[in-house]
Parts: sequence; structure tokens; C-alpha cells
Amino acid sequence: MKISDILAEGGKPFPSLEIVPPLKGMTKEELMDSIRPLMEFSPKYINVTCHRDEYEYREKADGTFSRHLVRRRVSETAVCGAIMSEFGIETVPHIICGGANADEIESLLHDLRFMGISNVMALRGDSIIGEKRFTPVQGGYRYAGELVAAIRRFENGKIFSIGVGGYPEKHFEAPNMETDIANLKKKVDAGADYIITQMFFDNKVFYDFVERCRAAGITVPIIPGLKPLSTVTQINMLPESFSLDIPMELTKAMLDAGDDKEKAYRTGTEWCIMQCKDLLEHGVPAVHFYTMGKSRNIVEILRAAF
Ligand code: FAD
Repeated sequence: MKISDILAEGGKPFPSLEIVPPLKGMTKEELMDSIRPLMEFSPKYINVTCHRDEYEYREKADGTFSRHLVRRRVSETAVCGAIMSEFGIETVPHIICGGANADEIESLLHDLRFMGISNVMALRGDSIIGEKRFTPVQGGYRYAGELVAAIRRFENGKIFSIGVGGYPEKHFEAPNMETDIANLKKKVDAGADYIITQMFFDNKVFYDFVERCRAAGITVPIIPGLKPLSTVTQINMLPESFSLDIPMELTKAMLDAGDDKEKAYRTGTEWCIMQCKDLLEHGVPAVHFYTMGKSRNIVEILRAAF
């Protein structure tokens, strides 16, 4: 079922779950065992992220190095196929502009259609390590909006429901929030059905963002994205990786946990439960969870909040 149809039905809010494909070498059984606990909540679908190939330098016999593009993770297509056959639920592969040209993306869309997939997330992706700014490959797409338009052109736009990313704390490259929201509107105007936000830790930031999007004429559903903190190191790592703010109260509580890993884990989980309950009270259609392949805290949060 298309997510646009699920959202249009307007039933009970539901959890939206995202996993990261495993590193090569992990077996299908290991991955399925990590997802199985989430089946308790009968998820309507599972999002599967997409990752660019990375450069690896290999030393040659003469002592010089050769550069190779390598894929470290199993492909999102393979993971989607495995989840669909094991659990019989919908999957939402993420498609990124980075590293692929328009023809390659069209071939991927044919594969996804063949597999019976009817939902995709359209993203630009980040620059590859060693590249300062995102650069599309020759004949590729520069912005997620161009990718959305291409997916809409595919088979007259009938096959896929399309989600896009939104940034309550602004995308790090955008000069200001107004410009970023204007660019988000371009993605929606190109044919996106809904928005999933980057993670945030202060719900006020999300409510302000929704208000500004509505004022800018964005009318599609906006699904908040949450990630529970589970370790103290994340209070530095996440702002650095995702250009976001962690409220002082949460930062302090995490630091207070010190070396007590379980206390840090509990603090992050409780904060996320509080955020999730508050979002549901505010009438969000769904809550998206960045599970990062770890289900223990997500299971606790879903039991407490849904
Ligand atoms: P865009 O919408 O293209 O925006 C990128 C920048 O360009 C922004 O600053 C924007 O303001 C600007 N911009 C956009 N359109 C225009 C335009 N027409 N003209 C001028 N400027 C413009 N990354 C992965 O690699 N794999 C994943 O699976 C993945 N999943 C994600 C899921 C979600 C829900 C989110 C929020 C992000 C995800 N990301 C993923 C990260 C994402 O790829 C990066 O944040 C990336 O830097 C931007 O992607 P985007 O799709 O938002 O890009």
C-alpha cells in the first residue's frame, strides 16, 4: 500500500521505522533477528537507507596506492527483498542522487517496481569522503527535487509514493531557514507526497518548523523523526554529523550518567518517550524512528507511547 494512501486515510498515528543495511558479511538471519522484535507493533512498512560507495586505498606491490570505490553495506534493494519475503510487509527503499546517473536510477526504479515496491524516499545524499561539496556524477541529479521529478515521470507517476527529507533545524548548506523551506517546497511541488524530518530533540523546534512550512504553502503531511540517545558520546557526535542542537537539559542529564552506560541509555530512552507522547498529543500522523539497527530501546519507546 502506498504511504500517501495510508496518510490520506487518517487513521490512528503509527510508528514509521527506519533501518540501515548491514555491513557486508552479516547474514540475512542475523539481520532478520535484529528486526523481529519490532514486528510486535505490526509496522506498516520499514524504511531502508541507502549508502554511497566509499573510496578505499590499496597498497600495490611497488608501494604506491590505487584508489577503489567499494560498497561497505549490503544494498537497500537486497535488504528490502529479504524483509518483504520474511515478514510480508512493505518496505521503503531510500534512493539518493549521489553516485548514480539518471539512467542508473531509472533501472533501479524498474527493479523496485518488479519487486512490488510502491514507496520510495528521494534524497540527495551527502558528499563522498574527501569531496568538499556534493557533486553529482555526469548525467546525475543535483538536488533531491530533480530526483523526485524523475520518479514522478517514471511510468506516468503512478507507481511510487514519494517521501522527502525536511530539516527542522535547517539543512547545514542552506544560508537560512526561509531559503531551505523554499527549497523544500520545490521538492513537494515536484511531486513529493510527504516529508520525514531529520531527528530533533526539542519538540518546539518541530512545531515551529511545521508552522513555517504551512505558512510557506507546504500542505503535505510532515512526519517527525526521532532517535533515542543511547550513549554519552552521541551528545557530541550527533550535532557534528547532523547539524542539530541537543537541549541543555538533555545534555546535562546524559553527562550526569558519566560512565554508567545503563543510566545514559535510560536517560535517552525516557527523553524519547516524552518527546513521542507529546508529538502524538499534538496530532502528528506518524512518528519516524531512526533505529540504527538497534531495537531494544525502540521496543521500549513504542510500548510506552503507542
Ligand atoms: P536536497 O533537498 O537536495 O537539499 C540539499 C541542499 O540543497 C539544502 O541545503 C537545500 O536547501 C538546497 N536545495 C534543495 N533544492 C534546491 C534547489 N532547487 N535550488 C537550490 N538549492 C536547493 N542520506 C543518505 O545518504 N542515505 C539515506 O538513506 C538518507 N536518508 C535520509 C532520511 C531522512 C528522513 C533525512 C532527513 C535525511 C536522510 N539522508 C540520507 C541525509 C540526506 O541525504 C542529507 O541530509 C543531504 O545532505 C541532503 O539531502 P536532501 O534530500 O535533503 O537534499
